[in-house]
Amino acid sequence: MSKLFLAAAAVALATPAASQPAPPKLIVAISVDQFSADLYEEYRPHFTAGLARLASGVAFRNGYQSHNATETCPGHSTILTGSHPSRTGIIANVWFDLSLQRSDKAVYCAEDERAPGSSSLSYTVSPIHLMVPTLGEWLKLRYPASRNVAVAGKDRAAVMMTGQKPDQRWYWTGKTFVTDLKGAAVPQTLTRANALIAAALAQPRAPLESTPLCRAKARSIAIEGGGKPVGTGAFARSAGDAAAFRASPEFDGDTLAIAAGLVEEMQLGRGAEPDVLAVSLSATDYVGHSYGTEGQEMCLQMLALDRELGDFFAFLDSRGIDYSVVLTADHGGLDVPERQRTAGHPDAARIDPGLGAAAVGRKVAAQLGLPGPGLFGESGMGDMYVDRALTPAQRKLVVDAAVAVYRAHPQVEAVFTAEQLAATPVPTGSPVGWSLIQRARASFYPGRSGDFIVLLKKDITPIADTSRYVATHGSPWDYDRRVPILFWRRGIAGQALDTPVETTDILPTLAASVGVAIPAGSIDGHCLAAVAGQQCGPR
Ligand SMILES: [Zn+2]
Repeated sequence: MSKLFLAAAAVALATPAASQPAPPKLIVAISVDQFSADLYEEYRPHFTAGLARLASGVAFRNGYQSHNATETCPGHSTILTGSHPSRTGIIANVWFDLSLQRSDKAVYCAEDERAPGSSSLSYTVSPIHLMVPTLGEWLKLRYPASRNVAVAGKDRAAVMMTGQKPDQRWYWTGKTFVTDLKGAAVPQTLTRANALIAAALAQPRAPLESTPLCRAKARSIAIEGGGKPVGTGAFARSAGDAAAFRASPEFDGDTLAIAAGLVEEMQLGRGAEPDVLAVSLSATDYVGHSYGTEGQEMCLQMLALDRELGDFFAFLDSRGIDYSVVLTADHGGLDVPERQRTAGHPDAARIDPGLGAAAVGRKVAAQLGLPGPGLFGESGMGDMYVDRALTPAQRKLVVDAAVAVYRAHPQVEAVFTAEQLAATPVPTGSPVGWSLIQRARASFYPGRSGDFIVLLKKDITPIADTSRYVATHGSPWDYDRRVPILFWRRGIAGQALDTPVETTDILPTLAASVGVAIPAGSIDGHCLAAVAGQQCGPR
């Protein structure tokens, strides 16, 4: 290439740079837990408020949480870090560390297991397992006065979206919104909101009024989901029922009200330097788990979410804040198998309880004449860990025998060993065509991941006991991987795009919009030119 052409190209790049939009003063990053691309597509024509506004921005309908471990903690760890779980280290909601001295060998993703008294069920909340910085931390390097704030329905969502240096971080614990930050001043907003929520929870709640759209859902597909009637509910709640509270639109409304209160009280978006507000809305996930994704309940939830987001954006507008929004999800989801079977998925089924790690581990250990449980694992899928009390030779025997048991089972699609995954490069390029081992590689972190990993066949729901939940996610299949990624800012040129992109692309795109350079090779994602244009820099 001639020197003259290079000089001309440099001028061509420099000219639009001069007219680049000023950085927004507030970046609002919203995760709607379990908001699959399928749900977005289904309800998009019916959105009229907040989600309609976001759909009018740069709307990617084929976003991907590209990895296999499509759970809340890994998913949230990708959104504001630009990295797959293979780099964030957040391989699951819960994994096993068999070297732990305590009797509970499970580790919660947002736990500090070194804290005295912490266990995977009753844990000390901490970001120590997140191995990479978040957007808020990147911003603080360039803009020292920038604030990094989160409010979320789940602690792991708030932690994974803010990382090691939050200014405020609040999440629901089942009774009240709390923080893990020691010494940070408690905003009045939280004191007020917790009192109002406690008062509301103490009262029963009448069912929501349905709509023609949602009534049609209730009529057409009410069914027994895991032995419970699902599809016709409208969120009636008895006094004090906190489980019903969090699986209802009420929960997201309160989370957004706290977000608005924090914006007001902390004057977010009103300083000289840009702030980050991360919001994770958990009700969609609890509604999906409790009632499935295709009944009246999810219909009412989607319409309420649209309204609540609309009210939140109207509040930001009323304060004259120059803000930009991205909304995505930590993972998708699947309807109850009983209703799936009536909707053209004859193979939809619940997992065989015999696939559980404990059942398989005991059976294999007994066959080999070995003591102990053989295997540790959360369920019949995901990471499996071989008992460390065994000798290396015995452990090899257990791996080989257990892998053979899983591979022979008709509900199992694939099993990959840690050695196979370690030998596989972290995939790049379009996530659409990634093979199963590539999907599993993107959420494999040596030393933390299991000795092998089990992937179930499509449409197998990994819930056998439906006493708590009837539907879920967590598979490598696109119903769990595909999520919307919606960017909006006042004046943005709207486009609806089919191009597959990844949640790891969000961080570099937002960083570019505020002039923060992310060193090449330090993340997995790529700046999206459809959103950030020339601000993405030369490719
Ligand atoms: Zn979930």
